[in-house]
Formats: sequence, structure tokens, C-alpha cells
Amino acid sequence: MMTAERKLSYNSYWLAALVAGFTVLMLYMVISLGRDIENHSLQQSVYHFADVLNEQTIETIDQLDSDAWVKNKNQNFGLTKASQWLSVNFASAQNSQVLEVDYAMLDSLQLWFRQVNDDSNSNSYGAYRIVQYYSLGDSLKFAERTIIHDKFLIPLPNAPNGVQLLLRIQSNGPVKAPLKLWFKQDYIVYAASHRLFMGLFFGYMLAMGLINLFLYVTTRNLTFITYSGYVFSFALLIGSIHGLGYRFIWPESPWLEERAAAIFAFMTMSFIIIFSSQILELKTKSPRYYLVFKGFFIVYVFGTISSLFIPYSIMIQLLLLLLLFSIPVILLASLSLAFKGSDIAKFFSAAWVVLLFSGLTASADNFHWISLPIDSSYLLMVGATSETLLLALAVATSYSIQRREARKTHREAAENELQAMQAQDEVLSLQKQAQIDLEGQVTARTQEFEDALAGLSKVNNQLQGMSETDTLTGLTNRRFFEKHILVEAARSRRERQPLTIALLDIDHFKSVNDKYGHQCGDDCLIAFADTLKKVVKRPGDLLSRYGGEEFVVLLPNTTNDGAHRVLENFRLAIENLIVKTHGNSIKFTVSAGVTSRVIGPDNEYEKMIAFADKLLYQAKEAGRNCIKLGNF
Ligand code: GH3
Ligand code: MG
Ligand code: MG
Repeated sequence: MMTAERKLSYNSYWLAALVAGFTVLMLYMVISLGRDIENHSLQQSVYHFADVLNEQTIETIDQLDSDAWVKNKNQNFGLTKASQWLSVNFASAQNSQVLEVDYAMLDSLQLWFRQVNDDSNSNSYGAYRIVQYYSLGDSLKFAERTIIHDKFLIPLPNAPNGVQLLLRIQSNGPVKAPLKLWFKQDYIVYAASHRLFMGLFFGYMLAMGLINLFLYVTTRNLTFITYSGYVFSFALLIGSIHGLGYRFIWPESPWLEERAAAIFAFMTMSFIIIFSSQILELKTKSPRYYLVFKGFFIVYVFGTISSLFIPYSIMIQLLLLLLLFSIPVILLASLSLAFKGSDIAKFFSAAWVVLLFSGLTASADNFHWISLPIDSSYLLMVGATSETLLLALAVATSYSIQRREARKTHREAAENELQAMQAQDEVLSLQKQAQIDLEGQVTARTQEFEDALAGLSKVNNQLQGMSETDTLTGLTNRRFFEKHILVEAARSRRERQPLTIALLDIDHFKSVNDKYGHQCGDDCLIAFADTLKKVVKRPGDLLSRYGGEEFVVLLPNTTNDGAHRVLENFRLAIENLIVKTHGNSIKFTVSAGVTSRVIGPDNEYEKMIAFADKLLYQAKEAGRNCIKLGNF
């Protein structure tokens, strides 16, 4: 950052040196031109008479008192509508000499070359005889000039015995007529270097204008185009002041020639105001000045347009008045910003100081407060050149600063973007990690959940088994039997196979409990069940504890006879069973009721159970330790 700043001011010094070099070169050329001009200033005395009432003609002018004519040194009469009469006596004159009126913007010039009339009878004008008459001025078309040149050049007549020049000038603008006398060959030499200087100046202005126009086209930076506008209108202004515009650009239009200087002066100022406002960044850096500049801009644009309609003499006075206000304001604005440290404002102030200095010096020379070895209009051009170069420097610096700031902003934006992208990446990877973690957790939880579910279903199965198993004997219980008999009844009905139900009840079991205790009773029930399991062992057979010391046996595909045989075996086994427990040897018997049938559409299994119970009761009645069979 620091090095870039330093590099910038380093470059600026080089460029400032370039400006200085170029200015010195221009000054050198101007001084050598000035020497030429000085040598050809008119040696003869010039007499002047101001015809304020505009009433004198060539016929009446000789009737003036001789003291009406006053010696005049520099032929500068300021802004006046009065006709200015000049009179010069040449002791001798020859056709190889030319008179130069070194001011291009005179509306009307009338020149009379007269000689004293020897033969007073033959001339009606009295004492003088007119040798030659010329009418010039830019109110006439350019082509009407005697010698086609941007300044007014008038050939002297051949008059070895002397000739008098009478000159009448009238113009809407400032009136001045510096007179110079040349031998034609000298003028050719001078004109060549003058043209070189002019060519250099306009070539330089054209180049600056075009370069900045191109820069505008490529960068779209508005400062370039306003600068370019300023350069072109300034060049046109200088061109019109020096008569080059009329000579080369609008020779057919005295109308435009009349107004050109005012138009281009206002236009130049319009561009300068807007350009200054842009380059000093007044809008942001000094809003108050910005408003003032805006006001000036509007006034100058208005002036540019008005110059087309309002007479030049009025517009030029208006312009001078406006310049009196706006130039100090521009200088103040740029100086105040320069003191605040703006590099651009420094160049800008320098440019203005240079132009003001050259302008003031030129004016001082014009009013003969000082005497320069340089033609004042050339000095102004040198000032303009340096100013234009310094302003170009300001534009370049401004653009380079803008670009650096834009690059910085761009770089910062890129860095921010990178950071944002990195942050986004981090968020993404965090998200990814979180997702992985979450998935892991979900898997773990799911596993736990599944494990729990599995455990639960196991417990559930156990519970179910428990709810359908008799814990004491390990046989299925009555609940299971009641479910299972539905299945077996349906099968019997479907397969038309007999189903046998047997209800068994231990005889006098109450007395066993009473005699040996409940513990021993339980052991007897276990032994009973174990014995039953051994006897009834076909896969489809079902043994269940029906309640207390009552049991039920379900035998699918079994007839009464088969069932009887099985149960009889069982009855015998119990009869022979001795349960040894707690030091007792316990014996008991069993009775049973058995019935069998193929279950029909009425689903008679409940009736069968009741019937078996009835048969069991009969067995008890019949003396116990027996089996009763029957069908209903
Ligand atoms: P009966 O020959 O008429 O069947 O006479 P009983 O004594 O076997 O008949 P009762 O129905 O009057 O008595 C059943 C007895 O069975 C009552 C009870 O003490 C006994 N008992 C019922 N369940 C259990 C049990 O789970 N454990 C033990 N130890 N005794 C039981
Ligand atoms: Mg009983
Ligand atoms: Mg019993």
C-alpha cells in the first residue's frame, strides 16, 4: 500500500518535470518569436483619434482640429463601440513591405493610403490624393481579404516620396490594432516559425483531446470526456482569437466568426467547471462547493447558448464578470482540498496558478505595467499548454487512484468471497459430520431400540407362555385348553374325525392335603402330571391342568375305545404310584369321565365338556378309581 502511494508521487514528479520541460521549450520558442516581432514593431509615430459619435468619414476627417489627434503607443483601446482612427506617416514605402494588424478579431478595418495632392484642382478631396484603399475585417467573408492570412496583412504602395496611412477600426469586442511593418521575405520567415509554434500548440491540444476521448471510450470514465471537451473548446477559443478558426474552419461564416470567441469561451468554462467538480470529487468531498459549481455550470452553459443570440460585446463583458467570480472560487476549492492532502487537488491548483499567472502577466503586459520580451497572447498559450498538461496529470492521477481503489475493493471483495466460501465449506463439513454422527446415533439408537424390542417380544413371549402354562406342573393351563379346543373342534368337524375329551380328578385329594400338608399335595400334583405326560404322548394330544386337582386330556382322531385304553393305563399307573416326599410315601387314585364324537355344525364341544364332567361325577359316584365312558 505504502509503496504504491510512493510510486504514484514518484511518477507524479517525473510528469511534473515533463510539464516544466515542455513549458520551457514553448517559452523558448515564444521568446525567439517575440524577438522577431519586436524588431518589426512600427518605428513611426502613430496618431489616434476616437470618434465616439461615429460621425467621421474619410471626407470629414481632415476637418478635425490638429490637436484632436494624439500620439499613441500600443494601439490598445479596450472594449469600445467608438470608431478608432489611426494615422501614420511613412517617409517612404515600397510594395515589398506589408503592414500587419496583429489582432485577428476586428469587425471592420478601412485603410487609406494617401499622398499630398500636388494638383489641388484635380481632386475633390482637397489636400490629399488617395493612392490605395482597403476594406478588411471579419465582418467580411475570409476570401475577400487582400492577402489570405489569419492576421490582417496589407501591402504598402510604392511611394518613394512617402505616403500617409489612415486607418478606421470598428469592432464589437475589444479593439486593439498593434501595427507591425515587415518586408515580405522577413514575414515569410516569421510566419513559418509562428505557424510552427501554432502547429505545435494545436497539435498538442488535438492530441490531448483525442487521447482523452479514446480513454473515455475505453474506460467510460466521465472525467476523460469532460477534460477532452475542455481541451477542444479551449483550443477552438485560442484558434478563434488568433484568427485560425476563421481562416481554416469557418471562413464562409462571418456570423460565427462574430460569436465564436464568446461561444467557445463559455463552452470552455462550462467544461472546466464540470471537470473541476468531477476531478476534485466535490460531490463527496465538499458538497457546498459542489452546489456553487453546479450553479456556475448552469450559468456558463446558459451563456454558451446565449452567445448565439446576444451580441458579442455584451457576452464578453458578462464573461469577464463571471470569470471574476468563478476563477477565485475554483482556485479556493482546489486549494482547500490540496491543503487537506489531496494529490489531485495539488496538481489542479498548480494548473490554475500557472494559467492565472500567465493570464495576469499577459494582462499586465497588455496594460504596459510590465514589459515582456514575449507577445502576451503567446504567453497565454504557453500557460494554457502547461495547464492542460497539469490537468491531464490530475486526470491520470485521479484515474490511477480510482483504479487502485477499485482493485482494492475488488481484492477485498474476492477475499470476502473466499472467506465466505471457506466458512460455507466449514459449515458443510460440520453439517456432514453432524449427519454422520446423527446417523451413527440413529443406528445405535435403532439397534438399542431393536434390542429392546427383541427383549420385549421375548418377555412378551415368556409372558404369553407364562399366561398359558401352569407353573406348578408345567402343563398348559385351562386358558390354553379353551383356546386349543376351538382349533381341534374345527379340525374334527373339517376332517370328520372323532375328538375325545377326558376330565380327570384326583380322588379325595383334600384328605391328602389335610394329612401331609399342602407342600406334599403339590408334589403329588407334580408326580400326577409327570405320569400323565408319560402315558399320553402322541404329538396331537393335549394335557392341561383344568383347575386344582382336575386335569383335562384332549385326544384328536381318537375314539372312545382308544381313549379308554389310554386312560385305563393311566388309572393303573396312578394306582401304583407312590409319591415319596418329606419322608412320606403317598398313594392316591384318579377318576375320569370320557366322551368322544365327530364335531358337527352345531359346534358341540362345550356340551362335550359338560358331558365329560357329568361322567366324571358318575365315576366318583361309582366308588372312585374308575373311568366312565359315554356318548351323547
Ligand atoms: P373327591 O374324591 O370327591 O374328588 O374328593 P376330593 O377331596 O378330591 O374333592 P374336593 O374337590 O372336595 O377337594 C379338592 C381338594 O384338592 C381341595 C384342595 O385342598 C385340594 N387341592 C386343590 N388344588 C390343590 C393344589 O394345587 N395343591 C394342593 N396341595 N392341594 C390342592
Ligand atoms: Mg375336585
Ligand atoms: Mg378330587
